[in-house]
Amino acid sequence: MSIQDYRAFHRRSIEDKEGFWAEQARMIYWHKDFERVLDFSRPPFAKWFLGGETNLCHNAVDRHLEDRAEQNALVYVSTETGEQKSYTYRELYGEVNTFAASLKELGVGRGDRVVIYMPMMVEAIFAMLACVRLGAIHSVVFGGFAAENLAKRIDDAKPKVMVTANAGVRGGRVIPYRPLVDEAMEATGHPPETVVICRREVDAEMPQAAGRGMDYADLRRKHEGEEVPVEWVESSEPSYILYTSGTTGTPKGVQRDTGGHAVALTSSMKHVFASNPGETMFTASDIGWVVGHSYIVYAPLMYGMASIVYEGLPIRPDPGIWWRIVQDHGVNIMFTSPTAIRALRRQDPEYMTKYDTSTLRNLFLAGEPLDEPTSRWAAESLGTSVRDNYWQTETGWPILSSMLPGLEDEPVVAGSAGYPVYGYDVRLMHEVTGEEVPAGERGIVAIKAPLPPGCMSTIWGDDERFVQTYFSDFPDPEMYSTFDWGVKDERDGRYYIMGRSDDVINVSGHRLGTREIEEAISDHPEVAEAAAVGVKDEYKGQVVLAYVVPKDGGKVETDAGRAELEQSVKDIVDRKVGAIARPASVYFVEALPKTRSGKLLRRSIQALAESRDPGDLSTLEDPGTLDSVRATGPVRK
Ligand code: ATP
Ligand code: MG
Repeated sequence: MSIQDYRAFHRRSIEDKEGFWAEQARMIYWHKDFERVLDFSRPPFAKWFLGGETNLCHNAVDRHLEDRAEQNALVYVSTETGEQKSYTYRELYGEVNTFAASLKELGVGRGDRVVIYMPMMVEAIFAMLACVRLGAIHSVVFGGFAAENLAKRIDDAKPKVMVTANAGVRGGRVIPYRPLVDEAMEATGHPPETVVICRREVDAEMPQAAGRGMDYADLRRKHEGEEVPVEWVESSEPSYILYTSGTTGTPKGVQRDTGGHAVALTSSMKHVFASNPGETMFTASDIGWVVGHSYIVYAPLMYGMASIVYEGLPIRPDPGIWWRIVQDHGVNIMFTSPTAIRALRRQDPEYMTKYDTSTLRNLFLAGEPLDEPTSRWAAESLGTSVRDNYWQTETGWPILSSMLPGLEDEPVVAGSAGYPVYGYDVRLMHEVTGEEVPAGERGIVAIKAPLPPGCMSTIWGDDERFVQTYFSDFPDPEMYSTFDWGVKDERDGRYYIMGRSDDVINVSGHRLGTREIEEAISDHPEVAEAAAVGVKDEYKGQVVLAYVVPKDGGKVETDAGRAELEQSVKDIVDRKVGAIARPASVYFVEALPKTRSGKLLRRSIQALAESRDPGDLSTLEDPGTLDSVRATGPVRK
């Protein structure tokens, strides 16, 4: 296959949607075959595989009992508790059925919601699969979220049951869940009838919360060995709700269907992740994020792979831990975020080469812009190819990828997220006129509806907000906005993501992407990380401010050192982006504010710089990082 072949493959997925997806749909099991591939009679809502009946749990578990019952399905490694355990498909089948029987006893059935608020424990995955087995809808809430976030999500989903744990552990520190769960129960207007508590071997008490609590160990003992028949659901019935990260505003409850989700994810394992059934995938993320839903749980299991479930930090007990896992378990495909790789890059490089990682074919990275130096560094030190891919919670699987059938031997161009993935009719729109812009010009990345299978079907409980949020930015009411800014290379058609459209900086009418400025600054040998924001300016509309984490904090402690670094940061922006992008001021900070999923929370920096209230900070990993931004003082002009 060559890139021309891929272009033809992609073209067919757009021009003959029904034919194309009918073929992909054969990768999964249908209890009752679908009658129609696509129903787009009520745009922009798309229904895939109409009339078909299937079940995610059956596809992820039961279906493999025939061929791979004794193969590993999940390999659990926790460097927080020291626990290590593997589950074959047969064992997974047993655990999921026991969990399903337990939930059934608690009255959970088709269409009911179950909130799963848990750390990275295998029981969280058993619970997810048990829900979809029963036709229930799970809403996983990231286990590191505070009570306020949990309460909001309970209010939105109105769950019948909540599944939780006695504690999370992070960096060796035990975080008891009890105060969080108690507080959330008080704050919510819809407390679930029952709270199931999965206990782990850490010292944290969790009495049975407000009289609703039940120990999972008791339920498990009672229902062990039971089998619960699969509930066959119609393809467009919801399988889960998951909220976006909240980097730019209030999180949105993304609703996913069943049939389209199963088809898109299974197909992506073959075509985007270039893997084979029986192989091992290691996605270092969290089940609380979409990457975890799609590529720790559903996709690898539906495709018959072994999935590594890792709890812990990438640098503990030492920065070689991930590569040791790759060696010990013969990992073939790995997926994580650029943030994680950047964290490793600050450590002793010896750890990257200490283990035999020769089984690893591709390292996939997504979630935020992947800068060239990080990409190059990972590729060189691991001797594997690094594949950027771009997507959103909303889409559930990649929109752009640098790994697709026919691209295997194409050179990887660091900085580019690659080409449109089959099924996605990607366009770039002018953000004022809303018309398409030609290649080489920047525009907002948009997708012409119908969105392909696997993408969100709506916002949970709010069709109107779905249309308003995603389909009202351009004159064409069938054009979905990603709110990201991108450009397509005129020569080879590769796409580059330039940052978020609401982060664009407008200096005297020039629209600047935050990413270009940040990348230029990050290239400075004395800079560890940088954020660029635009703040209001009377004359120019906005000016650029740069917040820089220096590699050597000592240097900026003297006025002379600070002045020198400030000057050379401004110079590098001049040189690489242009004088118009030159920061009005450069501030040195100890750390940048990031969300719990590792994304830079630019809006909070911008608000502080404009002396505004920084707004919703509940998704912030460490509120202390804002202090160092605050301490930079009022904006100097
Ligand atoms: P919210 O929508 O609530 O503000 P969020 O957009 O951060 O939160 P996610 O769905 O987790 O929530 O993140 C998707 C976004 O992450 C994309 O829209 C894009 O901005 C960014 N992103 C993901 N992958 C890449 C990539 N490979 N390159 C550049 N940016 C990326
Ligand atoms: Mg978003």
